[in-house]
Amino acid sequence: MSYSLPELSYDYSALEPHISARIMELHHSKHHQAYVTGANGALEAMAEARETGAFANINRLEKDLAFHLGGHINHSIFWTNLHPDGGGAPEGELAAAIDEFFGSIDGFKAHFTAASMGIQGSGWGVLSWDPIGKQMIIQQLFDQQGNTAQGTIPLLQLDMWEHAFYLDYVNVKADYVAAFWNIVNWENVAARLEAARSGASASLLIS
Ligand code: MN
Repeated sequence: MSYSLPELSYDYSALEPHISARIMELHHSKHHQAYVTGANGALEAMAEARETGAFANINRLEKDLAFHLGGHINHSIFWTNLHPDGGGAPEGELAAAIDEFFGSIDGFKAHFTAASMGIQGSGWGVLSWDPIGKQMIIQQLFDQQGNTAQGTIPLLQLDMWEHAFYLDYVNVKADYVAAFWNIVNWENVAARLEAARSGASASLLIS
């Protein structure tokens, strides 16, 4: 199976003024597309290696697959985590879970913001479901594939790569993160939490 770039459910300009159409167009059609192409390329090169028995480059290929497939999955989740009618406050089970695991929505937002802004280098702030502890946790995802626990299920991700904000916010990450809260699709996060909790852990809800 080869991967393909998912369509967005909103126009590139729909998230303005929080994220510009220019960033959205580049981010989706160029950056995300490059991860899709890279993941497909890695799989093809692995198939060729099996065919020929030549595994000299296998370490590089495994790293390429983790990076590019990670990028494809991360962006596919991110687009659905955002919506032009987003923002406001979470409701229902999600709101209750945030209170249970983080004390309050303000505590959660402060923790998620600090974790996202504190990433050293490129990466993502991630709210995850931990199926072992049966709780929500906040993680820092490095690059596209590192520093998160195996098996945790992403619910809400914020892209902290410079390509995600630099054209709009230059180096002022705090303004970018503050703007993000205005377009969070809490219904999507709630649906992900429900799926993760019910054991539908294989479902990333991206297709
Ligand atoms: Mn990105």
